[in-house]
Amino acid sequence: MDKAAYMYHPDSLKYVFHQNHPFDQRRLTLTRDLLQQVDALSIDQIFVPTELPDHHLLQQVHIPEYIDVVKQLSVEHPATKAMDHAAQYGLHQGDTPYFAGMHQSALSIAAGSVTAAQMVMEGQTTHALHLGGGLHHAMPQKGAGFCIYNDAALAIAHVREAYGARVLYIDTDVHHGDGVEMCFYTDPDVFTYSIHETGKYLFPGTGRVEERGAGEGFGFTVNLPLEPYTEDDSWLECFETTLHQVLERARPDLIISQHGCDAHALDPLSHLHCSMQIYREMPRMIHEAAHQWCEGRWVALGGGGYDIWRVVPRAWSLLWLEMSNHPLLQQIDQEPLLSLPEVWLERWQVESPVDLPRTWLDDVTRWEPIPRRDEITLSNRKICEIAATYLK
Ligand SMILES: [Zn+2]
Ligand SMILES: [Zn+2]
Repeated sequence: MDKAAYMYHPDSLKYVFHQNHPFDQRRLTLTRDLLQQVDALSIDQIFVPTELPDHHLLQQVHIPEYIDVVKQLSVEHPATKAMDHAAQYGLHQGDTPYFAGMHQSALSIAAGSVTAAQMVMEGQTTHALHLGGGLHHAMPQKGAGFCIYNDAALAIAHVREAYGARVLYIDTDVHHGDGVEMCFYTDPDVFTYSIHETGKYLFPGTGRVEERGAGEGFGFTVNLPLEPYTEDDSWLECFETTLHQVLERARPDLIISQHGCDAHALDPLSHLHCSMQIYREMPRMIHEAAHQWCEGRWVALGGGGYDIWRVVPRAWSLLWLEMSNHPLLQQIDQEPLLSLPEVWLERWQVESPVDLPRTWLDDVTRWEPIPRRDEITLSNRKICEIAATYLK
């Protein structure tokens, strides 16, 4: 029987750069509350990781100098010398500014992902979800793109070391999963697959289809950079076609997926034009793949998502409904415009600066059509074909 665990460390709520920063952890609370309102998350499904990753594991992913600087910058009043080093390690102002307590909160996030992977590998649960995780831009030697410690890479490193399992990492965030790719670029036992908006117009600028791994890891990295304004059908077509080819090649023992939900049309940081439909369909495909290829072993992580009111709670709840085989999902499939619970809407509308959506999926018939749809679809198809030739 399938079991699903929901990892949650209260300290992940302290991962706050500053009040006006787009990375807003209230989305974790909004999601959890939505799930509880529809009776889809019980106390016995929630797990709090008790152990933090040790220095040995941290150093599998990050260089010691970087870890030291993160620690030094985590105090209330960092020493001048540490502040002087902040820029060199990506932690100065801009996207990823240092803040008091960042070492502890980033570590608690890493703990959630590592523990999720451990529970799945030990057979304590079939699937595990850790929405606090998915900080895929953190690099071995620096912080980047709102990410300090790369929890996804740490979970993979742990699985490799402790169990020797082959890992398929699937990154569905609208931004290229560059940090995770970088960590395992030469490793043939870790396959990284990222589908994202082309780096031509979007951070971090990498993730071209030609990036395929190096050395022994050559052929174990796949990137699908999609055109701006890509919509549901084209996104899903590209994702599904490539996923099957990737699975054949990767033959994983474990799937770790990253679920940034910033490819939605309402997300303020990107230019894709997808609706909630991809966040319904894509988890289903990954779930099926996990059962087909790795006896169900599946760890799902959060990631980006900057419309915390209209997009993230629905997208991440749909993911958990899929992982936990919740019957509400069949109801949503039959009636995509099924209403969200009134209590949740009333509770959060008072805090939200925008009108909350009333339904689980979006009514895309009311959206303006994208003028270059055919051109975009063809162009994306071409990218899939190139990726496919690399997978043979
Ligand atoms: Zn399952
Ligand atoms: Zn993102």
